[in-house]
Amino acid sequence: MIKTNALIIGAGPTGLFTAHQLKLIGLSCEIVDNLDKIGGQCIELYPDKPIYDIPAIPECTGEELTNNLVNQLKPFDIKFHLNERVDEVKKSNGSWEVKTNKGTLFNTPNIIIAGGVGSFEPRKFAPKECEKFEDKSIFYSIRDKNIFKDKTVTIFGGGDSALDWAIELSKNSKINLVHRRDEFRGAQATLDQVKTLSKEGKIDLYTKYQLKGIEGNNELESIEIISDNNEVKKLKTDYVLGFFGLIMQLGPIANWGLNIDKKTIKVDTEKFETNQKGIYAVGDICTYPGKLKLILSGFHEGALAARACFALAKPNEKYRFEFTTSSKTIKDRLGIKGD
Ligand SMILES: Cc1cc2nc3c(=O)[nH]c(=O)nc-3n(C[C@H](O)[C@H](O)[C@H](O)COP(=O)(O)OP(=O)(O)OC[C@H]3O[C@@H](n4cnc5c(N)ncnc54)[C@H](O)[C@@H]3O)c2cc1C
Repeated sequence: MIKTNALIIGAGPTGLFTAHQLKLIGLSCEIVDNLDKIGGQCIELYPDKPIYDIPAIPECTGEELTNNLVNQLKPFDIKFHLNERVDEVKKSNGSWEVKTNKGTLFNTPNIIIAGGVGSFEPRKFAPKECEKFEDKSIFYSIRDKNIFKDKTVTIFGGGDSALDWAIELSKNSKINLVHRRDEFRGAQATLDQVKTLSKEGKIDLYTKYQLKGIEGNNELESIEIISDNNEVKKLKTDYVLGFFGLIMQLGPIANWGLNIDKKTIKVDTEKFETNQKGIYAVGDICTYPGKLKLILSGFHEGALAARACFALAKPNEKYRFEFTTSSKTIKDRLGIKGD
C-alpha cells in the first residue's frame, strides 16, 4: 500500500502542473496514467502541432510543452505509474483507497482527477476469443520488440503505427501485414518502403482482409483471416499485433459516485472539489459555469486544488501563501542555493 498526501490521476499537462503545485507547498504526490507515456492529449494527439496560447510561450509544440512541464518537475522526485489505469476508488477510515488494473494500491486523503477526456484505450479485435491471448501473444502496443525476434508476427492496421512496426520488425521477424482496405493511411514514403519489402519477400501483404478467428489452447497457433468476398486464409503465426487507433472513454471514473454531467465532473470553483470530500477534478474533465477547455485553465484549477489538499494532508498545520521569488522554504524545496 503506497501512502501519499495526494494521488493524481492523469499525466496530461494539468496533472503535471498540479504535481508541481503540490510539491511546491510541501505535499507528496504520485501520478498514475493509463498511457505508456507522459503528456496526455498533447503527446498522444498532437506532439508536432504548434500551440500558440500558453501564457508567456509564444509558440511550442505539444511535445515541447510536455518536455517543459516534465523539466519543471525535475527538482522533485515524483513517482509515475504509467500503463496503469485507476479502476477503483473507495472510502477507508476517512481517507481514500485507490486500486489500479495492475493491482497497485494507494492510500491517500486527496485524489486529484486530471483525466482529460477519459482514458485512452486501444481499439481491439472483434472476436471474443482474442481476450484470452491479450498481453501474451496479442498486443495493441509494443513494450519490448525483442520478444518478436525470429518469430512470425501478423500485424493488422493501415496507419503509420502498423506500417512503421512492419518495417522495423521485418529486420528480424517474418511479417504478415493485414489491412481491411486496399489503401493505407500511413505516410507515402513509409508505404513505398513496405511495398519494396513486400517485393523482396520480407513482408507478406494481405489487403481487404480482416481477422476472422484464432486457434490455439494455451499458446496461439494460427489465425484465420477473411476477405471482402468471403475467402478465408489460415496463417501460422506466433504473435498478432493490432494497430487500429485509440478510443477515449470516461471508463471507470463513471463508477466512483461523482456528479457526472455529459462525461465531465461537476466541481466548485473554490477548491475544484467534486461532490465527494477529498476528490477534486481539474483540466478538461471538470465542468463549472464558464469552463474553458484550455490548457491554461487546467493550470489554474490545479493550483487551487493543490492548496485545497493541504488541509486534509496536514490537518495540524496552517497553509501559508508564499511567492516562489521570495520564499526560502520554496527555494529549498526547489534545491535553489542562495537568496
Ligand atoms: C488537436 C488538438 C489541439 C489542441 N490545441 C490546443 C491549444 O492550442 N491550446 C489549448 O490550450 N488547448 C488545446 N487543446 C486542448 C488541450 O490539449 C486539452 O485542454 C488538454 O490536453 C487537457 O489536459 P488534461 O491534462 O486535463 O487532460 P489530457 O491531456 O486529456 O490528459 C488526461 C490523461 O488522463 C489519463 N487518464 C484518464 N482516465 C484515467 C484513469 N482512470 N486511469 C489512469 N489514467 C487516466 C489519460 O490517459 C490521459 O493521459 C487541443 C486539443 C486537441 C485534441
